[in-house]
Amino acid sequence: MTWLAAGYRYYPLGLAMRQLFGCNVWKVSVDAGFSCPNIDGTAGSGGCIFCNTRSFAPSRRLTSGLSVAEQITAGIRQLQRRYDAQKFMAYFQPSTNTYADVRTLEKLYRSALDHPGIVGLAIGTRPDALPDDVLDLLQRLSAQHYLQLEIGLQSVHQKTLDFLRRGHSYETFLDAFRRARQRQIRIGVHLILGVPGEDRRDVWATAETIAALQPESVKLHNLYAVKDTPLAELWRAGQITLPSLSEYAGLAVDFLERQPPELVIERIAGEADTGYLLAPDWAGIKHAARNAVDQEFRKRNTFQGYLRQKSDPGCL
Ligand code: SF4
Repeated sequence: MTWLAAGYRYYPLGLAMRQLFGCNVWKVSVDAGFSCPNIDGTAGSGGCIFCNTRSFAPSRRLTSGLSVAEQITAGIRQLQRRYDAQKFMAYFQPSTNTYADVRTLEKLYRSALDHPGIVGLAIGTRPDALPDDVLDLLQRLSAQHYLQLEIGLQSVHQKTLDFLRRGHSYETFLDAFRRARQRQIRIGVHLILGVPGEDRRDVWATAETIAALQPESVKLHNLYAVKDTPLAELWRAGQITLPSLSEYAGLAVDFLERQPPELVIERIAGEADTGYLLAPDWAGIKHAARNAVDQEFRKRNTFQGYLRQKSDPGCL
């Protein structure tokens, strides 16, 4: 566990990228203007309970009229001004980035891969937008480039998927996951911890299910309410409570203690745009969740995989 020897309690993406590419790799967000089946009426029309589709608008305004290559050039310039950044990953981020015909997708992905400075792709999507022909394309690209398929699952529990109004089932995810895995596509799974209606045991069950599936990475999110969402209405009406910072840190550590040491943790929590955030306050504070998770690990004197291995870490 090289990450433990390097002083981490879990295997962070930054370290995994440095090990693979020899330096920091920065994600450049690309908005290719996709829609979403949970918005356009295919799977649903209101979107997920936490999704403010208007929050896409600022990035759409900024990128409006810019090609994928132009967005990447602008993103790289911005990162180079702020950091000593050399290598970049094109991240197809807002909405459902496999939701188009294969020819359109291939053109968009290749325009990113052809950009100098780009060392790979990350593609965020939903499990119900991964037909075989799209996965075949991702398999072809994966054979030549670093490619990470990021699938939004959020929870393995149907009651939670229903509450979140995801418009897909766990079985749909499992089917997409297995078809992607058969094609040796690198998979990251997005999960939300602390959804109202879930208790600790539900999070443990999600953790154990994901550990058994063995994706290459996970991205953990806390649930927060932003303006103009159904979740915000429930929160305002006092019908739900959202986890405190210490509750979230406890759930994240519960989750990570059950994961294999080789699982890369892309993100430990989401940070909300404070212009939209209603609750909880801590979701808008930079690094608050990361620090709280580190503190919880120190308090328990554990680390990622602790409950699977219970080995003496030696260097804690
Ligand atoms: S799948 Fe993503 S883009 Fe679509 S409604 Fe849910 S959060 Fe929004």
